[in-house]
Amino acid sequence: MSNYWSTAGIPHKGWEYETVIDLKEEGEDYETCMMCGKEEIRYVHIVSHDEVAETYRVGCVCAEKMTSDYVNPKERQRKLENRAKRKENWKYKEWKQSQKGNQYFKFEGHLLLIYTDKRSGKFRCKIDETFGSKSYNYVSEAKAGIFEKIEELKEQGNW
Ligand SMILES: [Zn+2]
Repeated sequence: MSNYWSTAGIPHKGWEYETVIDLKEEGEDYETCMMCGKEEIRYVHIVSHDEVAETYRVGCVCAEKMTSDYVNPKERQRKLENRAKRKENWKYKEWKQSQKGNQYFKFEGHLLLIYTDKRSGKFRCKIDETFGSKSYNYVSEAKAGIFEKIEELKEQGNW
């Protein structure tokens, strides 16, 4: 792999920060930083430059140097790391079973419910009094769906 920090071909500065992604969320493990060619990165920072046709996918350290921003890339990555931890912990939450055979879980003052839709036989979710719009083939998928919804509500300040 090439190391563009030691070559003149690619600009070292003046990159614009786009976003960061967690490869695990996309079902991948690691990829190589396009700038330094070394790190095995899980959190991929996307940066762009007026003089470069393609966006670059790089590690945190390279993203900082390229954008001359030593705050945001780290902060954005930390948020994703925390989210990944929450998601991992979520799998181990112990749900209870209601008399009707539905699974419920009291979480941060909210009642989460997964029930079977009588017509379709699929699993659906309910948070407090709000029914979810999606249906799932497996309970585990429904639980993951509730996690995403909670994250979304928190992001919007509606949790
Ligand atoms: Zn790098």
